[in-house]
Amino acid sequence: MTPAGLPEFVRHDVDLSRHTTLALPGRAALFAEIRQVEQLARLAGSRLARRFVLGGGSNVVFSGDFDGLVLHIAIRGRELIGEDQDSWIVRAGAGEGWHEFVGWTLENGWPGLENLALIPGTVGAAPIQNIGAYGIEVAERFLALEAFDLRSGTIRRLDHAACRFGYRDSVFKQQGWHREGRLAITHVSFRLPKAWRARTAYADLAAELAGRRIVAPTASEVADAVVAVRRRKLPDPGVLPNAGSFFENPVVSAALADRLGREHPDLPTYPQTDGRVKLAAGWLIEHSGWKGRDLGRAGMYENQALVLVNRGGASGSEVLALARAVQADVRERFAVELSPEPVIV
Ligand code: NAP
Repeated sequence: MTPAGLPEFVRHDVDLSRHTTLALPGRAALFAEIRQVEQLARLAGSRLARRFVLGGGSNVVFSGDFDGLVLHIAIRGRELIGEDQDSWIVRAGAGEGWHEFVGWTLENGWPGLENLALIPGTVGAAPIQNIGAYGIEVAERFLALEAFDLRSGTIRRLDHAACRFGYRDSVFKQQGWHREGRLAITHVSFRLPKAWRARTAYADLAAELAGRRIVAPTASEVADAVVAVRRRKLPDPGVLPNAGSFFENPVVSAALADRLGREHPDLPTYPQTDGRVKLAAGWLIEHSGWKGRDLGRAGMYENQALVLVNRGGASGSEVLALARAVQADVRERFAVELSPEPVIV
């Protein structure tokens, strides 16, 4: 145990900029890299004011220093744990990189996650915001997850129903578990379909496949096309630090969507099953004049207005000031409220 009564693997005063894809300055008072569930058991019940569970750092903004304990989940491992007539069942450690995990399933001939290729972050983060892209979301392939409850010191298993998935949403967000640092996801299992059909209706993906003259793509060909589209539109965090899409795509009332559609005939609208209408946040930001525009050392990316980038040396407060300015202009122009997608700590 350290003098503070914490296990020896807990480090003091750790630089957080290397642990987030926005590369913002900030230090954690305490930091633990978690490679095994047993380490979580040793931390359970520790009386700390604040805890934060960190995965790949692609969906978090530290607005400054963090005065509690950051738990960096680095639990690895991936395996086929079952198979029946309809599906393959795979399980992975929460610290596995999402894109590498998708690649591994495809190499083994298990399709189903190809549209989600190149989404940044870890396997453990995927169910929290129910990541989705090009017409597939993780909830469709999700079987169950295991999470360590740091308050009670027990392992909990959450099945599909218990996760209460919605559009980029789950019980973790609804209950605030992801920001409280109460539950740390340790493993996730997925059910991958044997009767697989490519899903290629999204315009960008369809155009990419057409450009490659592929009519009936394999799952790997879909993944390759998704990767090519994403690489074109999204900056590489290693070159230009960013956290992917910075705002959620808003879902608004049909009445508001109708009014906006009359005022802006080229506004893309996507009706939802509940009668509401999804709008493209990137379009709203671009048409509020923010595409390629900076505020301080942060800016909205020139190839995709939904991505907030750190031009070099931006602080957490500069990022948040830019986000507020974008929200205010979109609100004033379109009467639509944008919600940040990353967790702001
Ligand atoms: P995009 O393809 O330009 O689409 C922009 C918006 O239009 C999204 O809200 C998308 O819905 C919607 N949309 C486009 N075509 C649609 C169709 N055929 N049917 C229904 N809705 C349609 O978006 P992008 O910004 O370049 O991102 C590409 C994909 O990656 C999108 O699916 C986006 O949601 C996804 N993405 C996900 C995350 C995440 O999981 N956190 C982060 C970044 C991007 P959907 O959002 O429902 O797809």
